[in-house]
Amino acid sequence: MRRGNRPARRLGVVQVQATRAHPDVDTHSSADTTGRAATVDRRSLLLITLDSCRYDTFVAADAPNLKAVGVEIHRAQAPSHFTYASHMAMWVGVTPGMAERAEPYLNPKFAKFFRISNGARRAYGPSAFELEGRNIVDGFGQAGYRTIGCGALGWFNPATPAGAVITADFDRISHYGWPWSVKRQAAWLNDQLDEAGGGPLFVFLNVGETHAPYWHEAAPWSADDNPCQPFQTVDRRADCQARQRACLEYVDAQLGPLLARFAGASVVVTADHGDCWGEDGIWEHGVSHPATLTVPLVFHVEPEIDRTRAMLHAAELALASNGERVLPASHGASGDPQPPVTLETVVALRKDLVCTEVDGEVLIIDAANRRYHSAGATGSRIVELIGEGRSAADIVAVLIGVYDIDHQTCTDEVLAFLRALGEKELLSDGECR
Ligand SMILES: [Zn+2]
Repeated sequence: MRRGNRPARRLGVVQVQATRAHPDVDTHSSADTTGRAATVDRRSLLLITLDSCRYDTFVAADAPNLKAVGVEIHRAQAPSHFTYASHMAMWVGVTPGMAERAEPYLNPKFAKFFRISNGARRAYGPSAFELEGRNIVDGFGQAGYRTIGCGALGWFNPATPAGAVITADFDRISHYGWPWSVKRQAAWLNDQLDEAGGGPLFVFLNVGETHAPYWHEAAPWSADDNPCQPFQTVDRRADCQARQRACLEYVDAQLGPLLARFAGASVVVTADHGDCWGEDGIWEHGVSHPATLTVPLVFHVEPEIDRTRAMLHAAELALASNGERVLPASHGASGDPQPPVTLETVVALRKDLVCTEVDGEVLIIDAANRRYHSAGATGSRIVELIGEGRSAADIVAVLIGVYDIDHQTCTDEVLAFLRALGEKELLSDGECR
């Protein structure tokens, strides 16, 4: 016995999670008295597109707020070379990505930030937000999110026929005119967050200052002097570089408070496309070129949402590789009420269940009922101890030797855990006695 030589830990309680449309993590209360300092529900997602912002501009800029969104600035490829097409692609889940990295989020082909199923099966792993609808805005709305959008570019003007399409599904949309409005956009979004109260949000912001002519409020150069015009023959690359960077730094300062409110939620910062600055004699965007397709990508996915995605993926892999063991929904339980688990009960898991490990925790896959269950840290240890069948008293004895816990507490928690397994119909009928 090694009582006292391990840190005290509480036994895990089984959590039940069925496959579902989107993560159902706990709600973080946004009800506080600090007004705009209130953080959003942690299921929320903020998507920022820095219009036309080049990867090299983002890397070079002094933009601490935007850079703090993720641990790495990724050099991604945009889904298109102009605003409308790129955003419409993102609206169905195809965000800028890296083809060479088979990782979730970084490569939307592998797993997306958000995905529209259109009733189709996934070819690859689950996305952070699995949505149903005609686009992600509609999908988030159907999933109970409040959807708020604010676009600087003319494409997002809901008063135009094309803009009406791209903005159609937002609960709230604003357009302050093209393209220098980030200060008013941020203020409006902050007001919207204040009004939204609790509940998850999908917030979209398209920033115009980084778009040619690269100007921001009070900039010391003329807004009428555009250094990046299609078909120009004069080389103004240096002006483009300096001005887009200055614009991004201005934008960064304006977005600090908004980003702070999403610190505990998920944030994606990217660009819809880049710009050519004389590469191959080309200026601006709207043409397919490595410079118009290369964009920055920085992101943070809220850990519980990421973990839920990973567990669902593991469960699906286990299901797929054990397909022959899947039984009909009536998995053989007798239907008779089982006597409650006591210390003398020998418990065993149903033989058709599949167990797999994610993040050091056991997932119990119940294929017959299309559900999976996370056992929690210490619950995982109990599941391992159960093995082919073991008495509750044996399990208690082993755990007392491992954890700093008294006999009564350990007994109560083991029995509670095993009874929870029984209530979920995860225990074998035959082995219980
Ligand atoms: Zn654009």
